[in-house]
Amino acid sequence: MEVNNRYITIKTHIEGAPKESDFELKSAALALSIEDGSNDVIVKTLYVSIDPYQINRMKSYSPSHKAIVGAARITPGEAIDGHGVAKVVVSGNPEFQKDELVVGLISWGEYKLVKGGGGLRKLEPMGFPLSYHAGIFGYSGLTAYSGFFEICEPRKGEKVFVSGASGSVGNLVGQFAKLFGCYVVGSAGNNEKVALLKEKLGFDDAFNYKEELDLKATLGRYFPDGIDIYFDNVGGEMLEAAVANMNLFGRVAACGVISEYTNASKRAAPNMLDVVYKRIKIQGFLVPDHLNLYADFISTISDHLRNGKIQSLEDISNGVESIPSAFIGLFQGDNIGKKIVCVAQD
Ligand code: NAP
Repeated sequence: MEVNNRYITIKTHIEGAPKESDFELKSAALALSIEDGSNDVIVKTLYVSIDPYQINRMKSYSPSHKAIVGAARITPGEAIDGHGVAKVVVSGNPEFQKDELVVGLISWGEYKLVKGGGGLRKLEPMGFPLSYHAGIFGYSGLTAYSGFFEICEPRKGEKVFVSGASGSVGNLVGQFAKLFGCYVVGSAGNNEKVALLKEKLGFDDAFNYKEELDLKATLGRYFPDGIDIYFDNVGGEMLEAAVANMNLFGRVAACGVISEYTNASKRAAPNMLDVVYKRIKIQGFLVPDHLNLYADFISTISDHLRNGKIQSLEDISNGVESIPSAFIGLFQGDNIGKKIVCVAQD
């Protein structure tokens, strides 16, 4: 049997903000069979995670390309890989059986032939929606968990600032910090998001950064006693303003710099005298370095979800053709919570 596999590619490398015309929906016939003796697996995509880091892979040059395999440059015209949830359609691999659910590295397309089944693992839904396994149980959740608990080294009662706070990683960082006993303020890009942080997710306070003219003064107002921990999802002038308001021995988890991804000339220049004299630790981190925490993370987050102590925020679009707009929307603040595309229900 053969299917018409539709998948998303980029037409050329992308240097600024992504736009619809940068992408193409291609299709190719794919035989749903594998060679005798091969341990390859063909999977059908159900849910795919939409993540900001992919924009750096789409550039002709980015320092990220050589950092880790998963950040390698994307070749225009080729299928784009990404994390998500899929169903096994054909398998020559004894580890995977037809119709089993898997999670791992699949593609921005309807089907993928996975060589040797590499990068896949069996999925046990644990009674949660399948989309959770592309979102909160995936890299986004582990990023928030490892970044907050390992990199920020929190202590109860500390003052925590989270930027990108209504996004996939940010909303969870804020929820973890509140549960842990910290005072938490988040920034987000519109008033609906700000209300959600305060009224639904339990942040102590939140503000719309697009309405603020002087971020340094804004953070001074929200943190009259200074910031102990800054979880940075955005970089740029927000990082500069946060450093200016940090307390002695403050910690900054440099998770991402989305405000700089689509603007090559933008670079944060935090005052290094503040960093030195206040003995501030600024630490970058990448979630694949923290897979040792995965089991602990899953057991903690699933308990919290079952007990209603953590909420999962998801923003789901439908159909492979909606992947470009879902992705573009990340850089325009369209999403609330984890952006996911449901490519097929089953
Ligand atoms: P996300 O926050 O769910 O989505 C992106 C959000 O970023 C948008 O909704 C928008 O919200 C905000 N944004 C877009 N352009 C912005 C700009 N110019 N200035 C300020 N905010 C902007 O995405 P995510 O998956 O949770 O990722 C958040 C950050 O973590 C990204 O920087 C990402 O690269 C990073 N990350 C790092 C790791 C790691 O291992 N270190 C892993 C996953 C993600 P607003 O409406 O608030 O503007």
